[in-house]
Amino acid sequence: MAFEQYFLSQSSQSWAAYHDAIAATQQVLRERYGQSPYSGATPDTLAAAVAELDPCPVEGNQLKTILNNLGSLVGDHSVAVAHPNCIAHLHCPPLIPALAAEVLISATNQSLDSWDQSPVATFLEQRLVNWLTQEFGYPASADGTFTSGGTQSNLMGMLLARDYYCQTHLHWSIKEHGLPATARRFRILCSQVAHFTVKQAAAVLGLGEQAVVPVATDEHYRLSPQAMEQQLQSLLAEDLIPIAMVATAGTTDFGSIDPLPELATLAQQYGLWLHVDAAYGGGLILSDRHRHQLTGIADADSLTVDFHKLFYQPISCGAFLLRDRAHFQLMERHAAYLNPKTNASAGIPDLVTQSLQTTRRFDALKLWVSLQTLGRKGFAELVDTTLALAHHTAETIAADPALELANQPQMNAIVFRYLAATDKRDRLNQGIRQTLMENGDAVIAQTEIAGEVYLKLTLLNPRTTHADITTILQKIKQIAQQWETDYDCRSNSTPSTDGSNPCRTNHA
Ligand SMILES: *Cc1c(COP(=O)(O)O)cnc(C)c1O
Repeated sequence: MAFEQYFLSQSSQSWAAYHDAIAATQQVLRERYGQSPYSGATPDTLAAAVAELDPCPVEGNQLKTILNNLGSLVGDHSVAVAHPNCIAHLHCPPLIPALAAEVLISATNQSLDSWDQSPVATFLEQRLVNWLTQEFGYPASADGTFTSGGTQSNLMGMLLARDYYCQTHLHWSIKEHGLPATARRFRILCSQVAHFTVKQAAAVLGLGEQAVVPVATDEHYRLSPQAMEQQLQSLLAEDLIPIAMVATAGTTDFGSIDPLPELATLAQQYGLWLHVDAAYGGGLILSDRHRHQLTGIADADSLTVDFHKLFYQPISCGAFLLRDRAHFQLMERHAAYLNPKTNASAGIPDLVTQSLQTTRRFDALKLWVSLQTLGRKGFAELVDTTLALAHHTAETIAADPALELANQPQMNAIVFRYLAATDKRDRLNQGIRQTLMENGDAVIAQTEIAGEVYLKLTLLNPRTTHADITTILQKIKQIAQQWETDYDCRSNSTPSTDGSNPCRTNHA
């Protein structure tokens, strides 16, 4: 039969093709992926290797051959997210049960925009969303949707905050009429270390980045309620209009959690929409030991939580939760071909009404399968293990006179730097990160505090041990000491400013 080997059916030819395809992917993973954190290949090498490829040959080839060839590219030169030394970003090793669910998600290819494209998936997602709202302490009026991640969830939060303000205070529908003139005076307040997507959302929503007012944090990088109140007062004095407050539960760099109860009180007092960006910190909700850090989160009008971070799901997987489902009306739309209004009155749920996406993956299934497999206890153990490791790591760094710890971790992100003379500190730390990656020893991240370069470890992997960390810290010091020796030899030479690795000194 024609095309049988290309599509899933119950025929033995189709089934054999599918079986072989899946087996070939496993072979690539087993043989070519994950041995070291990274191959060390530079951007130039990879760009050149990829430039040689023909994206679309006239004649096709055997899938097995193709996957095998890809092994030497995608297998060898991907970062090994599950390797214990791959600890740079909020980029988790995915759970095996979730990987199994991904196979089902893509094979069944349900689309969550309309019920007739996802009959049972619609209800499973809603059940999971419902459970999530309860976990976060929301009332029965709450609802939500799965999203592609924090960026989309934060955009939805800011969109509803903006439109809600206009509807209730100005009797103005932005959905119909666009921005009112007053929108130039709208302000959104957030921590100065809030995620950049808050500004991005403001820009996309026509308010401009100017609408986002960064508020000072305390010495632990948590938003200061006093500074928030002062800022609110001065905005009002300037005749500006604060419409929303964004609290972060787990800042991307420091894992710091803003004082949610105090901010909720302020939001209520000033009549602001409170959005909590818990893309990262939401992962604490299943931990009996650490959940208390999220106290107050239930007062948020809307909530961002990512599952492709501290819930160990393959990308993409996130959720947007809304305290009062009625607010979804602000963005609801109906298309005759997709979700006519008659569906709603007939009790047929079309989830497109509460999402910015139309066609949408059944990502809820992977979280569902993971929760079933590990249980609440299993998830708590993953999170607790990594937070304990972070605590221990912070102690080790703080005790090392060669290193400077920048934050006492509330979660599992640690920012620090190698101490060196001021004039070379930034380049040295930047070089350390680059050298670790180029040598394939470890993938760690870099960030800035007050314009100075720091190193960052995001310890999401429960398989990373304190011994792994000790080894990485040793390597960091070796690289730095080698560099300082070389640097002193060349102290008269001009430092490179071209972005090349300053620790890769040629000894010639
Ligand atoms: C990761 C992150 C985001 C962005 O989420 P994506 O899933 O990458 O789109 C937003 N806020 C915080 C606090 C984050 O850590």
